[in-house]
This record gives sequence, structure tokens and C-alpha cells, in this order.
Amino acid sequence: MALLRDAGSDTQSIFSSEELEGLILKDKKAFLKTKCAECAGSCGLAKKYKETMAVIVKSMMDTFWCRDCGRVLCDSHRYQHTCERLDALKERNAKITKEALLEQLREDEARKEAQEAAAKAEERRAAEKLEEEKSRRKNQRKLLAHKAKQVESFIQQRSRDTDGLRPAVHNKLLDLYPRVKRLSLALYNQFEHPDSTEVGGPDWEEVKEIYAEARELTNMIVMTENGPLDMRNPWDPPDPEAQEAPMEGA
Ligand SMILES: [Zn+2]
Ligand SMILES: [Zn+2]
Repeated sequence: MALLRDAGSDTQSIFSSEELEGLILKDKKAFLKTKCAECAGSCGLAKKYKETMAVIVKSMMDTFWCRDCGRVLCDSHRYQHTCERLDALKERNAKITKEALLEQLREDEARKEAQEAAAKAEERRAAEKLEEEKSRRKNQRKLLAHKAKQVESFIQQRSRDTDGLRPAVHNKLLDLYPRVKRLSLALYNQFEHPDSTEVGGPDWEEVKEIYAEARELTNMIVMTENGPLDMRNPWDPPDPEAQEAPMEGA
């Protein structure tokens, strides 16, 4: 500012609103000589406002004066001049834009990370569930193999102990034995190396039938630590007969 004033002339070109109003009203002649603060050339004020009342000129200040930086300017520089305030404003806007952009990028990144974390958690849950199901099936197959083995041992013992058995019954037991032995092994193999998600299947159904037949033939049952061998499994659907039983008693 000081440079401009010194370089141009001794006339002032940068004013506060009050300063400029005061000059227009008190010394209109001096005001009309004001040089452009940008190019130090004539602002053409005399030509335009020589005949205009000071009060009117004062009301038109915005046409030759920038209220942002206080410069009085010629027509060419009124809207194209060095303007600290405008520059600062532009710089601030650019900075805000940049910050907003960075913020946006950070948010996008955070959202992406959250989505990835959620997807990974979902994947983990699914894997865990799969493992749980696998483990559950393994335990079920273990129980089936164990029961089948007990039926096999029972039939093996009954077929060896021929005392008191009619030959026809004995022969039938001898028929049952290789069948139950094969099924028991198959069920054990399914426990050790399952080749499907099936648990038991037809093999287990056949073991149940064989055990029912062996009980009938021998009039004996397999006793376990927990009482008579129960061919029903904890995961089997409820037995309709067992459900009706208490109702009969009631
Ligand atoms: Zn100019
Ligand atoms: Zn300005």
C-alpha cells in the first residue's frame, strides 16, 4: 500500500469507507483526481462524475471502489485487481475444499475398512459354524459307531454261546453277525473319514433292525452302564409313542 502511494503520486488510492465518503463529500475535486490503485492511471472519475452531486457519487462508491481491499480503481481494474481480502478468501476456500476432500477420503477409507472387517467377521462366523456342525456330526457318528459295536459284540457272544439256543435261532444269529460286523465297521469308517454330511443313514437303520431281530431271537438285551442300550439318539425327532405314553398313564 505504501509503495503504491509513493510510486504513483502523493494522492491516496486506498481508502476505508469513511475516508472515501469524507473525501467525496468534503473535497469532491480532489476525489475526482484519484488515480487507479492498480495501474496508477486515471480512473476517469472526473469525466463521469464532474456534474454529479457528491451525495449521489457517494452512493455509487461500489462502482469505482473495492470494499474488500479499499482500492479505488479504473474501469479495467475494478474487477481485476490485486485484492488481499479476495485472495485470502480464495486461498481459504481452496484450503477448505482440500480439507473437505481429505476428510471425505478418510471417511471413505474408514467405511471401506469397516465393511472389510464386517465381511471378515461374517466369514469367520460362517467358518466357525461349519466347524461346529462338523464337530457335532463327528460326535453323532461316534455315538452310532459305538452303539453298532455294542450290537456287534452282543450278536458275536450270543452266536458263540450255543447253550440253550435252538439250531434255527443259532443259524439266524450266525446270519446276522457278518452283516452287523460290516455295518459296524462302515459306521466307524464314517466317523473316522466321513465322505458326506450324512449321519448314520441306511447303515444305521439296518443296525437297528438287526438289533431288534437279535433281541427277539435271544430274548436278551444289551446292558450298558446307563441301563438297556437305547437305539434312540438325542438328536432323533421325538418318538410319537414315547410322547403318548404319559398320556395313557394320566
Ligand atoms: Zn487501473
Ligand atoms: Zn479489492
